Order: sequence, then C-alpha cells, then structure tokens
Amino acid sequence: NKQAVWLRNDLRLDDHPALSEAQQQGPIHVVFVATPAQWRHHKESPAKLGLKAAALKDIADRLAKLGIPFTILETDWFQEVPALLKAFCLKASIQALWFQPETPWDETQRDAAVSACLADSDIEVHELDYDLIVAAPVKTQQNEPFKVFTPYYRRWLQILEDSQSSPYPALQPQGEAYQPEKWPYQWAGEFRHDLWPGDEENALSRLSLFGEIKLQDYKKQRDIPNKPATSLLSPYLSLGQLGPRRLLATVQFFCGEQNRDWRHDDWLRELAWRDFYRQLLLYFPQLSKHQPFKPETQFVHWREDAAGFDAWCEGKTGFPIVDAAMRQLNQTGWMHNRLRMISASFLTKLLLINWRQGEDYFLENLIDGDYASNNGGWQWSASTGVDAAPYFRVFNPTLQSERYDPDGKFIKRFVPELAEIPASKIHNPPDALRSECGYPLPVIDYKSARQQAIAAFKDLPEK
Ligand code: FAD
Repeated sequence: NKQAVWLRNDLRLDDHPALSEAQQQGPIHVVFVATPAQWRHHKESPAKLGLKAAALKDIADRLAKLGIPFTILETDWFQEVPALLKAFCLKASIQALWFQPETPWDETQRDAAVSACLADSDIEVHELDYDLIVAAPVKTQQNEPFKVFTPYYRRWLQILEDSQSSPYPALQPQGEAYQPEKWPYQWAGEFRHDLWPGDEENALSRLSLFGEIKLQDYKKQRDIPNKPATSLLSPYLSLGQLGPRRLLATVQFFCGEQNRDWRHDDWLRELAWRDFYRQLLLYFPQLSKHQPFKPETQFVHWREDAAGFDAWCEGKTGFPIVDAAMRQLNQTGWMHNRLRMISASFLTKLLLINWRQGEDYFLENLIDGDYASNNGGWQWSASTGVDAAPYFRVFNPTLQSERYDPDGKFIKRFVPELAEIPASKIHNPPDALRSECGYPLPVIDYKSARQQAIAAFKDLPEK
C-alpha cells in the first residue's frame, strides 16, 4: 500500500498534511521533480534556486535518518512532469500520489495534467490544500471573489474564528536510517548563506524568536527599513519551508502569552495579504498571464527608457532612498516592504516604465520571489491592480525617505558615497555635494514626472 508524496512549493517536513495523511495510509516515498528550464522561464532567481537546493539537501538528510525513501527526478518543463511521475509511480508500485495545490496558472495546469495521467493507471491522487491560512474560498455573500483587501480580510478573520486547526503530527521513522544520495543540484545558484541558512530547523527557530521578541512591536517598527523589525521569513515562506498555518499557531500562541487578541494582530494581517494575492490568481487567471487586474490600464502608454531602467536596476537614480533599496536587493536578495513600494512606485509612476519590467527584475533577483505576492505588489504599486485608492497615488521618494529613514542610516548602509552627508541633506543632496561624492544627479524632475504620470492615467478609456 505504498504512497508517494510529491513535494513542490512545500519544502518542509513540519506540519505537512500530505506527508502526515499519506503515512497514515501506508509507507511513503517522497519525490521532488526539478524543472530547471521552467523555473528559469518563470524567472526564479539564482538565489532562490540556491535556497531551494539547500532546503532539498536538508530534507534529504532528514528523510534518510527516518529511513524514508526520497527521489529527485529532473526534466526541463512542467509539461513533461505527468509522464515522468507516472513512470516513477509505476516503477515504485505506488498506489496513491499526494500533493498540495498551488494557485498560479501554469502550476494548476500541470497538476490537472498529472491527475489525468495517473487516473489512466488507476493511481489515486489526493490534493490537500495547505498553502493558505484560510484555504476555504473567501467570498462575498453573493459568492463573488473579493476584489478589495479590507472586506476580504474581515471575512477571512471570520472564517478563521469559526475554524480550528492544530499542527499535523511529525513523520514517523519508517525503517533503517540510510546514507542520503548526493544530488548534483546543477541548477542551484549562489545565495547569501550567512543571511538565509537553508535548513528548516533554522526557519522554525527564527519564527519563534520573532514571535517572542518582535511580534508585539511589529506595528510600530515595521516601516523603518533600518530596523530589523519584520520577520525576514519571506524566503522560507515562498519555498514552503514554513507552513502558513504554523505561522498562525505562532501568532495565536504569543498573543496568548502577551495577553493580546490574536484577531487584531498586525502581522497576521500581513499574512492575510499573502492569502489574498494567492486566491486572486485562482479567480482571475489573467493575472498569471501578464494582464492587468484593471482592464482599462492596458492602455497606459508606458515609456521606453532603457537608460532610466538601468539606472533604477543598478541603484543610480540619484534618489538616495530608491538607490539604497535597489542596492539592498542586488546585494542581499531581499528588500524591505516599504522600499519595495517606494522603488516600484518610482519605476512605474515617476519613470513611467511598464510594471512588468520591474516585476521581472524583482523575480530575477529576489530570494523570496513569489509570483502571487510580487505580481500583487507590482500591480498595486502601478495602480493597475487591486488597490482601492484612486490612480493618483504617487509616492514622493524624498518625503518617504525623510519619514521612514529620518537620520539616513539605511541610506548610508547601502550608498556609501553618501556616508559623510549630514542627515538634513541626505534625502536630496544639493548638486555640489553630489558631484563631490561621485553621486549622480536625479534622473527625473519629481514634479514634472508626477504630472506626467497623472496625465497617463487620466486619459484612459472609461471602464
Ligand atoms: P513580514 O513583514 O515579516 O511579513 C510576514 C510575511 O507576510 C511575509 O514573509 C510575506 O509572506 C507576507 N507578507 C507581508 N507583506 C505582504 C504583502 N504586502 N503582500 C503579500 N504578502 C505579504 N513578498 C514575497 O514574499 N515575495 C515577493 O516576490 C514579493 N514581491 C513584492 C513586490 C512588491 C512591489 C511589493 C510592494 C511587495 C512584495 N512582496 C513580496 C511583499 C512584501 O514586501 C514581502 O513579503 C516582505 O517584505 C517580506 O519580508 P518579511 O518576511 O520580513 O515580512
């Protein structure tokens, strides 16, 4: 009665329904399918692929200690996965395949093809949804998907209050420990091991340290890029090294310890954004196909500006907070949320460059690159997405800088040319100081760029 568990974007052993439930049915064989060409096509960054390989190594070691067989298959594209998995299941005499669904379009198509292919051979398929905190459809009373976050979030909390979940039991040993295979992981890229250790135990201990020490002050400090006030867990969440419901349990536990109501926790609200963007992909598949959420915004005339785009990518726009943000991304593979908003708004509104260029650049460089959150964040910033605010939200990078990095400490960390500039001048240094420091002049004039952005959105055809 052998069961196979196909790991994909859920690279963990902790709190994993498919692993636990499958093991209730019989001995399990864990399988992973590497698809490097597809991942490159999806613009997964070298850093993300490096962390993915580290996560797989960790899983391989731990499964070997439990005596649970683990196989990594490799092919180029998703479309080859069904036949490969079928051959694997037949060879290993597997009776059922278990996995956790994902929401982007290509992944849903791949999974449907796998299910159809295995049905032909009488191999059962079990999909157990666990990629979201609230997996049930979160819909309006008219059974429509929500298009705005706040009402979605209210309904999401309501469902959560009415449901109970407790973490799944740990895997049981299945036989003699063995020597894990040494996979080549030729597709793995470089990443900052010092910042993002790749093992699950580390991710879990970061989570509980965050809950214990920082959760309570998250709201006050989360927007200050120079403070390590956010969880820094996104790389682990985007690979599924941490399960979202383990995060929920952590919030509930520490809110209990701190005598706070978990339903009002601000970090939990951010986790709801993650669910929201994932569900949007299910109900609006055009989002997985480079289409804007607001159809009328497909008529925006984006500017072709290779020099402006390069300056933005390299952190040489002459706007210190934007440059510090982009250099943080380039050097560490991660960027603070406030800075993602500032730099995305700068590219799409002030340079008026197509958000899809920024979306791709982020994916190609982020260690936490995640299709749903990245697309959601870019479309929100570009006003083509689910933002409820009117189109003329244009961040002023200098004011944002003064507000969220008042003493310029974050800027100085990543733009060392400006290290000696006093805080009062660092947000927009005078031209003479710029040339002394070898720091570029601004690539745009803020006021006229803002007018240009407003005009570009004003002339769109009526909905
Ligand atoms: P915390 O503040 O500790 O939040 C905890 C977790 O909640 C995060 O790890 C993340 O999973 C989730 N979360 C928090 N904020 C958001 C949000 N606004 N939208 C969706 N989920 C959220 N997040 C990614 O994981 N991958 C991306 O590729 C990505 N691209 C983005 C692009 C843009 C333009 C913008 C504006 C935001 C993007 N985000 C993305 C969301 C957010 O910036 C990151 O999740 C967050 O900065 C990660 O840091 P953290 O783990 O310390 O977050």
